Amino acid sequence: MTKGALRDAICGGAHDVPALKACTRAGTSCGSCIPMLKTLLTQEGVEVSKALCEHFAVSRAELFEIVAGTGIRTFSELIAQHGTGRGCDICKPAVASILASLGSGHVLSGEQATLQDTNDHFLANMQRNGTYSVVPRIPGGEITPEGLIVIGEVARDFGLYTKITGGQRIDLFGARVEQLPAIWRRLVDAGFESGHAYGKALRTVKSCVGTTWCRYGQQDSVGLAVALELRYRGLRAPHKIKSGVSGCARECAEARSKDFGVIATETGWNLYVGGNGGFTPRHAELLASDVDTDTLIALIDRFLMFYIRTADRLQRTAAWIEAMDGGLDHLRAVIVDDRLRICADLEAAMETHVAGYADEWRGVLEDPAKLERFVSFVNAPDAPDPTISFVTERGQPVPVALGLPGVRAS
Ligand code: SF4
Repeated sequence: MTKGALRDAICGGAHDVPALKACTRAGTSCGSCIPMLKTLLTQEGVEVSKALCEHFAVSRAELFEIVAGTGIRTFSELIAQHGTGRGCDICKPAVASILASLGSGHVLSGEQATLQDTNDHFLANMQRNGTYSVVPRIPGGEITPEGLIVIGEVARDFGLYTKITGGQRIDLFGARVEQLPAIWRRLVDAGFESGHAYGKALRTVKSCVGTTWCRYGQQDSVGLAVALELRYRGLRAPHKIKSGVSGCARECAEARSKDFGVIATETGWNLYVGGNGGFTPRHAELLASDVDTDTLIALIDRFLMFYIRTADRLQRTAAWIEAMDGGLDHLRAVIVDDRLRICADLEAAMETHVAGYADEWRGVLEDPAKLERFVSFVNAPDAPDPTISFVTERGQPVPVALGLPGVRAS
């Protein structure tokens, strides 16, 4: 799809994203280009509505303030008082995310469970053959030999495919939905917890070995990465959040490609924000330099909470900063210089998150009502899905190919 074709469609009367999608099919596959559609509409002089969806006339940021300010903690009460209709697959997960960011209990408790999208519904990522992946948290990418053995044994015993991820952890693929609780029971008993790979939440804080092992290291990058990952684990946000910590300017952890990245200096840390890979790769920009560890953590607390409160639905930090009036300078004025006098509030909100953190998978295993949802067939809870099958490729189980030629080692 070319920009010219999209412009023609806009001139022809497609004046919002759904209309553009319907007549051009742009944005109907992975959805990565939808932010560009909005930009194009604005460039063509079309006023783009900030409404979250047809059920809420306010933006996500405004809805966040409504939920935070009113104390409403259920979707039904929120839509009755501040929306219309019954909700849709846009506003329900968005409200679920806002409720989770405000610490409203387990995401699968009560009415919240009905708001979650497919992945959050089963606390696992659905794969193309209907199975799920399991990703235990490995803070900073640091893991003991005993931990590796447990993951290996679980993968072997349940016949799972294993792969090292870009975020320095181990992804176990091919679990049927009814296997998920048994797999997680083994992992939780061994001290692992949810890695939130399924959620719009903090994913990983990648690190290099820093002063622990590297001759060039200037600070303890592993120690900081572990501390940051444990601090922000479970933090729900408008989109996924990735981070990295490098022990010196050689940048082996690729921290500048993360939403927030930290690079050690001789005297402290440099903090970069707004980086990502993906559809539109972008380097993070320097927000603060040579800060000590306490200052660094306070700045990240403020950055993340300001992002969670004010970003649009599915807007990553790079796009959020870019769309901000004043961009990075405004962000610095708010969270470094405290021009809006909200930093104490942002830090307090993060402290509430840290104090209220609980592992979501442990919460499922301890609650028979939540465990009941992990079945392929509601009327035959013990029956596995007979349509799921695997073939072996490079010594591991993989889904049966969809008519596409595989790449095999010669
Ligand atoms: S970033 Fe620097 S400290 Fe870290 S592994 Fe690379 S060279 Fe060593």
